[in-house]
Amino acid sequence: MRVVVTGAAGFIGSQLSVALLRDGHQVVGVDRLGTGGSPEPRLGRAWAALAERAGFVPVVGDLLSLDLDPLLTGADAVVHLAGRAGTHDSWTDYGGYLRDNVEATAVLLDACVRTRVPHLVHGSSSSVYGRIAAGLESDPLVPASPYAVSKLAAEATVTAYAVAGDLRTTIVRFFSVYGVGQRPDMGIYRAVQATLTGRTFTVFGDGRQTRTLTHVSDVAAGILGVLAAGVGSPAQRASVVGQVFNLGGTQTVSMLDVLDEIERLSGQRTTIAPIADPPGNQRHVLADSGRAARVLGYLPRTSVHDGLAEQIAWQRSLLPVHVG
Ligand code: NAD
Repeated sequence: MRVVVTGAAGFIGSQLSVALLRDGHQVVGVDRLGTGGSPEPRLGRAWAALAERAGFVPVVGDLLSLDLDPLLTGADAVVHLAGRAGTHDSWTDYGGYLRDNVEATAVLLDACVRTRVPHLVHGSSSSVYGRIAAGLESDPLVPASPYAVSKLAAEATVTAYAVAGDLRTTIVRFFSVYGVGQRPDMGIYRAVQATLTGRTFTVFGDGRQTRTLTHVSDVAAGILGVLAAGVGSPAQRASVVGQVFNLGGTQTVSMLDVLDEIERLSGQRTTIAPIADPPGNQRHVLADSGRAARVLGYLPRTSVHDGLAEQIAWQRSLLPVHVG
């Protein structure tokens, strides 16, 4: 397949691109390499590594200004992962989140309709469920932050364009994704970094908020499953088109559990300082991926123990080496 991946330099996009290339697909990666004027170093590194791989076509630019039609023409599928992630900054830059998560999605969808892209897979978030996510796709959607509102609006935009433009789409919702390449603003990355460098980790509230953690390789495998069904038999296509799938992990843990595991695996102590729970922070986020399991054969494989061990080793490798 020739697959266009938006946000291909990002955490999930880069790991998905590697998985697609490994399976022999061609990847057209589209990314603007950050939010500001100059490229973000983490995205630049991921991009350089991808650009060396056979079958990867790098396209640097913003979805809102690129000429998308030549990139999309002839594609078998598009996986849309470009966007502004994270709750914190969304309280002070609502406009930026709406631009990158909703407007850019609409521009991409418009181009997909024009160029007759056969299937678009849209990356969404468990944040659409609100402060408590009980797990099922049919649960009420009560977003609790501007970020979550923008992700829900993006989903609605996908549905509107799919219906009006006769476009085949599938929405996948991710749950606290971790692993090599994780965004530095995310809790696990910050906790590992603080532990390895002996700095204090600021934990939100009482640390007893829970998350179903999902290893990035399992997310990639879930997306590959959706793409495969999209080019499968009419029955397989019908099972994913117009559907929403939770792609979660199998273990639900509290932040305090994560900190214990990081200490055990790293052999180092974590100093914590509690700070007030920030607005919009979710309390309990549980993923039920039963629908993905039944329809796609989705089976998350990486345990929190193994995934954290790998992430700690990766973050350790990024630390400056002190000589003498
Ligand atoms: P990331 O920040 O690592 O990657 C996003 C990428 O999109 C970046 O490389 C950025 O440069 C690019 N981008 C943003 N706006 C763009 C635009 N207008 N044009 C071109 N490129 C643009 O984030 P991530 O963690 O990989 O998240 C990817 C997607 O998954 C996002 O939509 C996010 O909301 C969603 N998501 C992530 C998680 C998670 O735990 N990481 C959980 C739920 C949902």
